[in-house]
Amino acid sequence: MAKREKIQKMTKDEIPSSEPLGDVEQQDLATASATAQPDAEKRMVLTPEAKRLWDGNNLGIQTAGLYGPRESRPLGWHDLEDRSNFLDRPLTVEDIAELHSEDPSAPTDEVVCGFCQKTIGQPIVRTALVKNEVKREGDVVGDLVCDRDGNVVYRGQAVVVGRPMAVQPGHVGNCLFKLRDAREKTRQLADRRTVRDLLPSQAFDQAQARLEGVTATFAARKEQNSSFRDRIGFGGKGDGFNSPHRRATAGRQSRDPRERNIGNRG
Ligand SMILES: [Zn+2]
Repeated sequence: MAKREKIQKMTKDEIPSSEPLGDVEQQDLATASATAQPDAEKRMVLTPEAKRLWDGNNLGIQTAGLYGPRESRPLGWHDLEDRSNFLDRPLTVEDIAELHSEDPSAPTDEVVCGFCQKTIGQPIVRTALVKNEVKREGDVVGDLVCDRDGNVVYRGQAVVVGRPMAVQPGHVGNCLFKLRDAREKTRQLADRRTVRDLLPSQAFDQAQARLEGVTATFAARKEQNSSFRDRIGFGGKGDGFNSPHRRATAGRQSRDPRERNIGNRG
């Protein structure tokens, strides 16, 4: 507080006192003293090296619609400001890499786009999410969104989509947008709950982990359902009460494919 007063006093002292201040100048000075910090105290948000990455749109750090929606940028200047305030220093090249970089969990061999089926030649990227507001207890502005285990949560080019659900990569921009459009598609589970047929785009390892989580949940529910059917006497194979799908699956598994072909011809 003492420091701030001293700086404000200095600011006032710096105004040439030879001429009386006009109304507008007086007002400006009052506003400046009350709200803004003098430039000398303003924090540098990026080191010069980090600023070059930002200005050069390194790895598409400022590209609108990178992960969709089309008009939104993966990171804004306010994110950098919040992050810099949180870390209490200008952001370095390493800090920028933590926010936006190549996805180290992406496959290293040729990656084919899940939408256009062409190879993705550009590096696969991922971007962290900076907390810009306190949404729940314990949130600190400028901190990164993390999962329960403390791992940074990323947006990236991997989408969990399709039937069966699978991790699919997309070209940034339109392809990823189209892949993500499937988010509007829903399907109804046996218990009549409606679920979306897609998980948002993420880093590859996170998309894989989520897919495994969803698969495990489905498997557990299926197991629960079939043990319920067993208990009430509808569970046995070939008892005539299985669903058509189950019957078809069982038939495919037990029959020799050649036999099926013969059958089809007849
Ligand atoms: Zn594509």
